[in-house]
Amino acid sequence: MTILSTSTAATVTLRAHTVRTGLYIDGEWRSTPSTFPVVNPANGEILAEMADGGEADARSALEAAVAAQDDWRAWGPRARANLFHRAHALLMERAETIAEIMVLESGKPLAEARSEFQLSADFFLWYAEQIAHLHGTYASGSTGGYRVVATHQPVGPSLLITPWNFPLLMIARKAGAALAAGCTVITKSAKETPLTSAVFVEALHDAGFPPGVVNLIHTRSSARISSTIMADPRLRKVSFTGSTGVGSTLLEQAAKNITNASMELGGDGPFVVLEDADIDLAVGQAIICKFRNAGQACVAANRIIVHSSIAEEFTRKFVEATRALRVGDGFDAVDMGPVISSDQRDRLGRLVGDLVESGAELLVGGREIAGPGYFYEPTVLKITAPDPALANEELFAPVATIYTVDSTEEAIRFANDTGYGLAAYLFTEDISSAIVASERLEFGMVGINRGIMADPAAPFGGIKASGLGREGGHDGIYEFLEPKYLAITVD
Ligand code: NAD
Repeated sequence: MTILSTSTAATVTLRAHTVRTGLYIDGEWRSTPSTFPVVNPANGEILAEMADGGEADARSALEAAVAAQDDWRAWGPRARANLFHRAHALLMERAETIAEIMVLESGKPLAEARSEFQLSADFFLWYAEQIAHLHGTYASGSTGGYRVVATHQPVGPSLLITPWNFPLLMIARKAGAALAAGCTVITKSAKETPLTSAVFVEALHDAGFPPGVVNLIHTRSSARISSTIMADPRLRKVSFTGSTGVGSTLLEQAAKNITNASMELGGDGPFVVLEDADIDLAVGQAIICKFRNAGQACVAANRIIVHSSIAEEFTRKFVEATRALRVGDGFDAVDMGPVISSDQRDRLGRLVGDLVESGAELLVGGREIAGPGYFYEPTVLKITAPDPALANEELFAPVATIYTVDSTEEAIRFANDTGYGLAAYLFTEDISSAIVASERLEFGMVGINRGIMADPAAPFGGIKASGLGREGGHDGIYEFLEPKYLAITVD
């Protein structure tokens, strides 16, 4: 049962979980004069009224992050790692609560929310383990008489802006890296999914992160918060995950103060199935890669590109598997939940209508599902005449498009014909052609015979319009560190 709260109280009760709805600044939860609603996309009901932060709150959060920076950077690695382990243990204790909150505000099925929780906790643990393993280098100066000591220092106060589609993973992946590196942070989550970020930050607070080290702002208008903070030269880093358009705006703002920036942006996800692929494996992975999170993933398969010799069998099996997907409320036994909003559902209706009008063949789906929530049928379209515009538009929806090609060469050329460069997928039984083809795919990540990319040990990120920088792996923490070199005179 969902108990609604329409008051401006600082908490809301959801399925027996009490969640803070205020801003978290300098170690305290603060309410604001106005609020904005959080909607459950599975039924359209208002779940909570969140504090609506404004410019003064943004300044206050930055002040707190700046004030806490020097002390936080001075924490020894072991003490900082121990604090991370305490936070990780608290997150694990609250796993089910956090997963349920994700289902309520994002609509994803409970099983997906649980696996997102686990991956987020694993990322947090990965960074905790990295803290104690950071070290520098030592060398003789090249002309003698001095020594070169190279180390790293935290970039400084960082603004973290995250989207709604993976409400916990995005914040845990960024905040984990930034805090491990010794940066203080201001996190701004999406207005659609602020509750997950609140329970995450509450766990950090309860674990003992000092006031000002972590700050959380919710707002109905992100631009006013980010432009206020970005204009202040004391902000030293912006790390953004979201659309390429907003990323580009933030990069323009970063240019003014030469603020360090990392960008995890949109993707096009070409999913290439070569003639010698294991078809059943490819179908199963394409279903996950396309319909997980109702297709609302940066790494989702946007264009499925299949060799003509196997296209008929692949398409038949893929359509059958799509038809079998159960759609509904994430708390029921379903494979796919709603899309995030009525706007998103209406956009899908137009998108599919336009594709059919321009000659695509609708193989399954293509309709809204009636009900109070924002549901859309899992949809597959066969595209007969490739539309270059489609390769530069994220579908970001439970809509698959299938193309047929006659050679590996054509598949690679077509896959690369996009402004994006995040994730691509390649299915083949021939390891040699997999290696050669993956080297030619212009993407930051290539899944070979698998449709899932994220892993704490892997450097997640893209090239071209998909972004700058990486999250996770050995590189992730360095996004929040900068090299520092000491030249030391010796006799
Ligand atoms: P979005 O760009 O609209 O919003 C992302 C975040 O930016 C949200 O917190 C939003 O409130 C904020 N925002 C919006 N306008 C802003 C502005 N003018 N100034 C500052 N902040 C602003 O994207 P979305 O719709 O929430 O998320 C979907 C996008 O995110 C897709 O393009 C998807 O590919 C991308 N994404 C990328 C990755 C990745 O790792 N590369 C991961 C997940 C999502």
